[in-house]
Amino acid sequence: MAIDNIWVFAQVSNGGPTTASLELVTKARSLGGSVAVWVAGDGSTVAGALGAYGATKVYGVDYGSNLAGSAVASAMKSVIDAGDSPDLVMFPQSYEGRDVMSRLSVKLDRTVITNNTDIAVTGDSVTVTTPIFGGNTLVSTTFTGGAPYLAAFRPKSFAPESAGSAAATVQAVGVPDLGATGTAKVIAVHVEETTGPKLDEADIVVSGGRGLGESAKYELVEQLAKVLKGAPGASRAIVDAGWVPYSYQVGQTGKVVKPSVYIAAGISGATQHMVGMKGSKNIIAINKDKEAPIFGIADLGIVGDVHKVLPKLIEALQGR
Ligand SMILES: Cc1cc2nc3c(=O)[nH]c(=O)nc-3n(C[C@H](O)[C@H](O)[C@H](O)COP(=O)(O)OP(=O)(O)OC[C@H]3O[C@@H](n4cnc5c(N)ncnc54)[C@H](O)[C@@H]3O)c2cc1C
Repeated sequence: MAIDNIWVFAQVSNGGPTTASLELVTKARSLGGSVAVWVAGDGSTVAGALGAYGATKVYGVDYGSNLAGSAVASAMKSVIDAGDSPDLVMFPQSYEGRDVMSRLSVKLDRTVITNNTDIAVTGDSVTVTTPIFGGNTLVSTTFTGGAPYLAAFRPKSFAPESAGSAAATVQAVGVPDLGATGTAKVIAVHVEETTGPKLDEADIVVSGGRGLGESAKYELVEQLAKVLKGAPGASRAIVDAGWVPYSYQVGQTGKVVKPSVYIAAGISGATQHMVGMKGSKNIIAINKDKEAPIFGIADLGIVGDVHKVLPKLIEALQGR
């Protein structure tokens, strides 16, 4: 047996597959075999975008405004029962991805390994890499017990790369009777208003921490992010303090970012923050304490007061 038939669950947002989904399709393609992608909704709307990244087939599970997790997992199970069983199913580590994978795991009585950052296939053996202890140790786990193997991946684990292929074929899959689990409905979707690039997709991220001193000073972070055409981010300390919404948080319990430039202003560099940004290409830290742990991973360290450094930086960049 080889890993010939790979499924990816893709999330669709604003009419297109999310970047995290395209990362998985790209990786799946590199493992060899065929790649079929599952979406909640009308598969034909994303067949072109997913095909370009190497998907040959899109399974669409259109379940109206009902919560998709139960419907997609049941539809997957019905296709497997009908004889089209995948060797591997890859999920993005997102709310929707987690909902589908946990339900499928129970239906198939298969383990799901979550929180991975890499995957390797050798013959019929599949090994995933999972960071533990805040990313300080990497664990390699090889699936046993027979396919399908179920694995979920953190965003930014792979780079999305178009293969320039043709649109995928589309198959609409009906939803079996879900009983009580089918009745949950999505009644509202709140999309956070943002100007500028999204935090987890921006090429430049400027994050602020408790060293800013007070909520009003976060404006300096926003100004610098704006002038650099980047996205503003935050440490958990100032999210917990209510200065900025949770969607700004970078770190273990927030977003993972990998921009070209990450500027940390008044952030100490706790392990839980660093696991969310240490993959950035260039890290610039501004902190008044020269012993702050953030300097341990910074490419450029500025020992200074954020209230002096940030305004000067903004002024210099605006003057260009
Ligand atoms: C389970 C768990 C999950 C967590 N998840 C996350 C997460 O996802 N993201 C996250 O960020 N944290 C997370 N944390 C919290 C984390 O441990 C730290 O408490 C947090 O990151 C600290 O935020 P901070 O660096 O802004 O604040 P502090 O640690 O208080 O650091 C403030 C820094 O600002 C500097 N400073 C002070 N004044 C100035 C000034 N005027 N100019 C320049 N520098 C100045 C200080 O020297 C200090 O280094 C988590 C914790 C736990 C237990």
